[in-house]
Amino acid sequence: MSTLPDTQYDPIEALDVRGDFPALAQTVNGHPLTFLDSAASAQQPAAVIDAVRRYQENDHANVHRGVHTLSHRATEAYEGARDRVRSFVNAASRSEIVLTKGTTEAVNLVAQSFVRPRIGSGEKIVISHMEHHANIVPWQILCEQTGAELVVAPIDERGKLRLDALYSLLDESVRILGITHVSNALGTINPIAEITAEARARGIPVLVDGAQGVPHSPVDVQALGCDFYAFSAHKMFGPTGTGVLYGREALLEAMPPYQGGGDMILEVRFDGTIYNELPYKFEAGTPNIAGVVGLGAAIEYLEGIGMDRVNAHEQLLLADMMERLGKIDGLRLIGTAEYKASVQSFVVDGIHPHDLGTLLDQQGVAVRTGHHCAMPVMQFFDVPGTARASLALYNTADDVERLIAALERAIRMFR
Ligand code: PMP
Repeated sequence: MSTLPDTQYDPIEALDVRGDFPALAQTVNGHPLTFLDSAASAQQPAAVIDAVRRYQENDHANVHRGVHTLSHRATEAYEGARDRVRSFVNAASRSEIVLTKGTTEAVNLVAQSFVRPRIGSGEKIVISHMEHHANIVPWQILCEQTGAELVVAPIDERGKLRLDALYSLLDESVRILGITHVSNALGTINPIAEITAEARARGIPVLVDGAQGVPHSPVDVQALGCDFYAFSAHKMFGPTGTGVLYGREALLEAMPPYQGGGDMILEVRFDGTIYNELPYKFEAGTPNIAGVVGLGAAIEYLEGIGMDRVNAHEQLLLADMMERLGKIDGLRLIGTAEYKASVQSFVVDGIHPHDLGTLLDQQGVAVRTGHHCAMPVMQFFDVPGTARASLALYNTADDVERLIAALERAIRMFR
């Protein structure tokens, strides 16, 4: 299966699900809210909010522990969500789905439990120049701990990964390749299936940061061929504080626990502890049960729409948004790779991104401004930061219209 979108879409009916999202019904600063910051955190549909409320009102108890009815219900809801995650990303087994706090925790888990015991001084970790800090800093910490070296694969001026340069870095001293599925700052979609094939042919395991992959298109971890795939519920219309690490069972099996505590054990004695089976070995302590219930509901919601439809809808909006932004005088698009997901960064001559963001907010248009936790990307493009408009399934052509009108007004006001 290709990881790149098919650009020849059949004409489809535009998605119109804005009404499913209560937060989008409000006005902000006297204008209808135009929410274009879903790459930072997406809004939640009523289906998710209601599922979490129902759980809190009726079923809340700790999981995996009690014999009483509420604990059974909570466990069923929590484990049911794990099953939904498994099928959503087509993992081979529920043992491969570790529930975490989010992408960040998942990457740290892989760094410390998988890579740390397998890496030594002078050996290498390869990442790309377009990574989010969550897929940079855990590796820098690991390098400090082990004397390993962090090596960065370059991007080009359109924000595309330079694949030949990446492949030339993948030699026998590399212990892991950490690569983002979709860049949160540039929108670039990386050809993950091709990259994992190249890495695995050289015996190098691959961790994919899927935080911006899962909300926008169908993801099949087996077809992608990755060893680990990390993502966060709050980018895919679920609650904050919850996420997922998919890992191949054989690798997870061989890894030591990341944290110790309750639930991750079968037996504790002072002379030694027996760890729990997968995936519980990696889920120490009381988890974010309500968050996981919300994640399950978010997946149910997305499956009801269909990720192919989501992808097609967003691609049409993105093409329109990029074309119209590109026509604004003095505006420079940052991130123009051929295959992109629904994110567009830009800068405007003579206006600091934060000022631009404030002027847009005054007109009810929410965009993100700053470095987007991807400072090396800003350094590459030699900008202090960008304004970033990110689309999700609930955005419409009207949102793009309002963004363009608000930008033109903001630029006029400023000049
Ligand atoms: N990777 C990417 C590409 C992201 O966009 C984000 C969130 N901005 C993260 C990782 C981190 O996700 P979280 O903060 O949910 O752990």
